Amino acid sequence: MEFRYNKGRFKSLEYALKGLRAPIYKALHKHTRVSYDCPICGYSGPFMDKNQRKDAKCPKCGELERTRLQLLVLKDLYASSDFGSCDVLHVAPENALRKFFRGVCGNYSTADLHREDVDYNFDVQEMPFNDGSFDPVFASHVLEYPEEMYKHLENLG
Ligand SMILES: [Zn+2]
Repeated sequence: MEFRYNKGRFKSLEYALKGLRAPIYKALHKHTRVSYDCPICGYSGPFMDKNQRKDAKCPKCGELERTRLQLLVLKDLYASSDFGSCDVLHVAPENALRKFFRGVCGNYSTADLHREDVDYNFDVQEMPFNDGSFDPVFASHVLEYPEEMYKHLENLG
């Protein structure tokens, strides 16, 4: 069996292992690092550094600042909007945001170029949907990958 981590086949195992990592990390660092609360998984304790960013990564869910902030913003928007009538397309879906969207959206679809744990596989530069098929399209940390970024932006509109 070929192990192809980046296709999303082993996401459940990845999250289970991260869940085991958190209590060990917390026990080792609770007296030497500042504690934070993760709005995604509910973990409370010291966070991990990511590259040059101190306290960037939750040791339990593994999510970074960007996804934690996005979830807080989405929850705030949800408090004042009706997501039940939205038809959302989530490109390169983050697990935490996928759970949120699935819980509040009327219709929710996921897409990625390579991953197998999504509804559609396509290149965002050649989206296979008619204009106005989704409202909204959520794509974070995606625009830096297509070679023709401006074409990609036109396809999202
Ligand atoms: Zn977390």
